Amino acid sequence: MKRVLITGGSRGIGAACVRRFAEEGDRVVFLYNKSEDAAMDLSMETGAFAMQCDVSDANALKETLAEAERALGGAIDVLVNNAGVSLIKLLADTTDEEMLSVYRTDLLAATVACREVSRGMVRAQRGYIVNIGSVWGRVGASCEAVYSAAKAGLRGLTQALAKELGPSHITVNCVEPGVILTDMNASLDGETLMALCDETPLCRLGETRDIAEIVFWLTSGKADFITGQSIGVDGGFGL
Ligand code: NDP
Repeated sequence: MKRVLITGGSRGIGAACVRRFAEEGDRVVFLYNKSEDAAMDLSMETGAFAMQCDVSDANALKETLAEAERALGGAIDVLVNNAGVSLIKLLADTTDEEMLSVYRTDLLAATVACREVSRGMVRAQRGYIVNIGSVWGRVGASCEAVYSAAKAGLRGLTQALAKELGPSHITVNCVEPGVILTDMNASLDGETLMALCDETPLCRLGETRDIAEIVFWLTSGKADFITGQSIGVDGGFGL
């Protein structure tokens, strides 16, 4: 039984991760921001514990992570930095506030969570960190420069921390989804989704479970010689 903390667990990929760990009997705390009803339903369904926290607020995140450790009854074994927001806009039209909001949610929050949670992992001399990046962090997306930059930052964070934390038997990896059917892509019309599907060598869009399985595997004890990697789970979209 592992103690698992997942950010952005109320919907989409994060919710699939909550289900995957919970079905193995792991003790799971997940953070949500606005989707209280969905979070409560998921908590009832899985037995996972939901905590409200806007991860873009570093102080709130620090306090919530300390509370989460108390709720879990000890140091976190698995941290999944999943919470994220996208921004589809020309860089020329993007305001400073919009940039900061994306960087705070998608990059700063993961960095803060790694710092806070890794202290307990170092004391325990074990642990797993998985950052949820994006194929756009690898190849860049037009009209998503800020999002792509934030996700590329997660690659660097992953590699550096893998070196820093490796001697403490902590693995740090990044999972980079391709196009996954979640609310994040709800604004895309059918034609765009078809085009994205056509560009995917495996000829389908991803499902949340595709990502949750890889996150789970990386932290299952069966992948303990993998660290510092950014693993595309994208049906070949990023090739
Ligand atoms: P969704 O939009 O479906 O869900 C986003 C989740 O993040 C929600 O649980 C939301 O919580 C949470 N969240 C967002 N902002 C905050 C915040 N400030 N504080 C706390 N929680 C927050 O997204 P996906 O499931 O699709 O995406 C999950 C991750 O996967 C993201 O990091 C995304 O960038 C990445 N990804 C997704 C892809 C896709 O095609 N779907 C492709 C590549 C990467 P709440 O609703 O409670 O506010």
